[in-house]
Amino acid sequence: MSTTLTAEILSVGTELLLGEIVDTNAAFVARELGVRGVTLQRKATVGDNLSRLSSMIREALGRADLLILGGGLGPTDDDLTREAISAVAAETPTEDPALLAWLEGLFTSRGRVMAPINRKQAWLIPSAAALPNPNGTAPGWFVTLPAGHQFAGKQLAALPGPPREMHRMFLEQLLPRLNLPQQAFYAVTLHTCGIGESDVATRLGELTQVANPSVATYARKSGTDVRVAASAGSLETAQALAGPVIARVRGVLEGFIWAEEGPGDAAATLASTVTGLLSGRSFAVVEAGSGGTLALQFAGSPLLRGAAISEDHATLLTLGLTPLTLSEAGVVSIQAALELAHGARERFGAEVGLSVCASLEGATQGQMAVALVSRDREQTAVMNWPGDAGQIRERAASTALTLAFRTLTSWNGVSA
Ligand code: AMP
Ligand code: MG
Repeated sequence: MSTTLTAEILSVGTELLLGEIVDTNAAFVARELGVRGVTLQRKATVGDNLSRLSSMIREALGRADLLILGGGLGPTDDDLTREAISAVAAETPTEDPALLAWLEGLFTSRGRVMAPINRKQAWLIPSAAALPNPNGTAPGWFVTLPAGHQFAGKQLAALPGPPREMHRMFLEQLLPRLNLPQQAFYAVTLHTCGIGESDVATRLGELTQVANPSVATYARKSGTDVRVAASAGSLETAQALAGPVIARVRGVLEGFIWAEEGPGDAAATLASTVTGLLSGRSFAVVEAGSGGTLALQFAGSPLLRGAAISEDHATLLTLGLTPLTLSEAGVVSIQAALELAHGARERFGAEVGLSVCASLEGATQGQMAVALVSRDREQTAVMNWPGDAGQIRERAASTALTLAFRTLTSWNGVSA
C-alpha cells in the first residue's frame, strides 16, 4: 500500500470538447477519487484526434501515477482511445480470443450479427487487462506500463463514455484494482444562509489557511457552504482532527448555520430545515414576482396549506393587498409583503404566512421584500439582488427562506 496516489482524468470526445454534452463522467470520477484520498491533479478534455490524444496521455503520465480516460472505446473510426494507449505503450493491439467470443455471443444473444468494425472492441495489448462491461459492448482497459518503459509502473484505465457503463465499471472493476492510499478522508459541510461568502471568510479568519483539516467556502444558491475536510491514516484520526475545527466554525457562524452534512447524510435543503422549525405549525405562501419558486421548494410538505402566485394587481388585491399600499408604496414594499403574508394565512387558514414581492424589471429590478407572519408576530426583510428575471426569482425564494429560518429560530428560542 502506498501512502499517496496522484491521478489525472482525461475525457475523450469532440462532443465534450465543443460543449455539446457536459462532462458528467469527470465530475463523478473526481468525487469518487477524492473520498478515497487520491490526489487528483488535473482534469482535461481532448477531441477525437489520435496525435493530440496520445500526447496528452504522455504528458499526464509524466506527472501522475494514474490516468483515468473516459470515452473513445466505441467501434467507430473516431473512437481512438485504444489506438492512443497502444501508441504510448509502444505495443501492438491484437484481438483477444476470449473477448471476441464474449462480444460475438452478445450480438448472437440479441439475434444480431456482429459488424466487422466491432472487432476492435476485442483488442488487447500485452500490458492491458480487460475490464468487463455488463452494460455495453465496450470492455475497458486497465494498463500497467512494464519495466523498461519510460513510464514503467504507471497505470492507465480506459473506461467507456456512456455514464451508466462508466460508473459501474469504475466502481466494480477499476477501484478494486487500484493501489489506493492508506488514507482515510472525513468531510463535513456546514450550510449557512443570510451571510455572504466574504463575511463568512472574514469570520473564519486563519482557519481557511490550514491544509489539514482544510476549511473552504463555496457560494451556493441556498447561501454559503463551509466544508471542513481532514485526512489521516484512519477514519477515527481524521474525525478527531476535524472535530475541533468544526466546533470553531460552528462558533464563529452561530445563528447562520441551517444544516450540517457529513458522509452518508442525505442532502439537506433550507426548505426542509424551515419545515422542521415550523414544529407542526401550518403555513401558506403568497408570491408576487417570484413565479412559484418559493412554493416549489416546499413541494410535498404536509404543513403547506396552499400557495397563491400572481403578478396581477387585481388578483393581489383579493389576496390581502390594500389599494392604499398598492398606490402609495407599490407591490415591492414591506407593507405589501406584510399584507400578503397575512393574506396567505387568512386565505388558506394557516397559522403562519410567508410572502415574497419581487421586481423583475425596470428601475426597481432586483428589489424584493419578504415577510413572515403569525397571528401576533411579524418579521420582514428587503433585499436588492443583481441578475436576470430567472436569477431574481430564485434569489427571492432564497431571501424568503432565509428570513423564515432566522425568524423561526428566534421565535422558537423565545417561546422555548
Ligand atoms: P464514446 O465512448 O466516446 O463513444 O461515448 C459514447 C457516449 O457516451 C457519448 O456520445 C456521450 O453520450 C456519452 N459520454 C461520453 N463521455 C462522456 C462524459 N465524459 N460525460 C458524460 N457523457 C459522456
Ligand atoms: Mg466518443
